[in-house]
Amino acid sequence: MKHYNIPIFINHIGCPNSCVFCNQEKINGIETDITPKEVKKIIEEYLEFLPEAGHKEVAFFGGTFTGISFELQNEYLKIVKPFIDSKKINGIRISTRPDSINQDILDQLKYYGVKVIELGVQSLNQKVLDLTERNYLVEEVENASKLIKKNNIKLGIQLMIGLPGSNSEIEYETAKKTINLKPDMVRIYPALVLKDTKMEEMYRDGTYTPLTLEESVKIGTKIYSMIETEDIEIIRVGLQPSEDLRKEGIIVAGPFHPAFRELLEGEIYYEFLKKINSKKLEILEVIANEKNISKIVGIKGINKIRLKELRIKIDNNLRLDEFLINGKRYTRKNILNSMEEK
Ligand code: SF4
Repeated sequence: MKHYNIPIFINHIGCPNSCVFCNQEKINGIETDITPKEVKKIIEEYLEFLPEAGHKEVAFFGGTFTGISFELQNEYLKIVKPFIDSKKINGIRISTRPDSINQDILDQLKYYGVKVIELGVQSLNQKVLDLTERNYLVEEVENASKLIKKNNIKLGIQLMIGLPGSNSEIEYETAKKTINLKPDMVRIYPALVLKDTKMEEMYRDGTYTPLTLEESVKIGTKIYSMIETEDIEIIRVGLQPSEDLRKEGIIVAGPFHPAFRELLEGEIYYEFLKKINSKKLEILEVIANEKNISKIVGIKGINKIRLKELRIKIDNNLRLDEFLINGKRYTRKNILNSMEEK
C-alpha cells in the first residue's frame, strides 16, 4: 500500500538548544509558529487530494516535537485524533531529540496514535556530540531507542556525516552502533555549513572543514551499504532539493548535491563493476530489471563513460535484487557487501 506523509513543520522557534549546524531562529518566549487550528486545516487540505486507498500518516517534522510543552503536544495530537478514529489517517510520526523521551511522553504519544518516532541522533561518538553542542550522552540515545522499541513504536534514526570532530572511522563506528540499536528506518544527511550558524563561524575561522562531495560519497556509500545490508530501510539520503535550505545563500559550504542518493547508488555499482572488470575484460555486460538501470549507469550515464565497454540489457524477469554480470548471477547484497570491504 502506498505511503503518504502529511508533513506539518513545527519550527519550534523557542528551542533552547544551540546545535552548531542549526540555523533555526530563536525568539524567546515564542514556542512555535503553527497553531493547532492550522494543523487541522493542513490535514483537511491534504485529505482532499490524497487517494482514499493508501497509508496516510501525519508527520510532525522540523523540530523537537517532544521538547515543546506537554500541554502543547497534547493540543496538536488531539487535533489529529478524530482523523485517526474515523480511519482517514492511519497514524502519526514525529521527529525529536533523544533526550526528550520518557515514559510519560511515550504514553501520551501512544494514546494519540503515534506509530513512528525519528530521533535526530546525528552521531554516536561523544566527542562529536560535544563539539556539535548536542548536549546529550551516547547512553541517552541508547536508552531512548530501547524505550521507544519497548513501547512498540517504530524507531527512526537520523544521522549526519562530516560533523566537527568526526572522521571516516568515527562515521563507520556510528553506523555500527546505529545498527545495534535495531532501528526500523534511517535517514543520512551530509553536514552542510548553513548561514548564521556556529558552524559557519567555525568554517570561517578555520576550525571546521566540511567534507568535500567526493569524501561524503566515499563515506556515504559505505554507511549506506552497511545499513541496507542489515535490512534496515533507508528512507532518505541528503536534503530534499525543495527544502528551504536550498534558497540562495543559505548553504555556505559543504557537500550539497540535489540527488545525493542517486549519486551514492551510481557509485556503488561503479565500484562493484570496476572490481569485476579489474582483469580488463573487453566487454562488461550487465542484465538487470529496468527499474535498476538508472542506478547502474549512474547520473547522466557517467558509469558508461567511466567503464567504457559497459553494455546494459533489460530483463524484467529478473528480481529487483538480482543481476547477471557477464553471465554470472549476483545479488544486491553481494554488491553492497563489496562496498563494506572497501
Ligand atoms: S537541531 Fe534541533 S535541537 Fe538543535 S538547535 Fe536546531 S531545533 Fe534545536
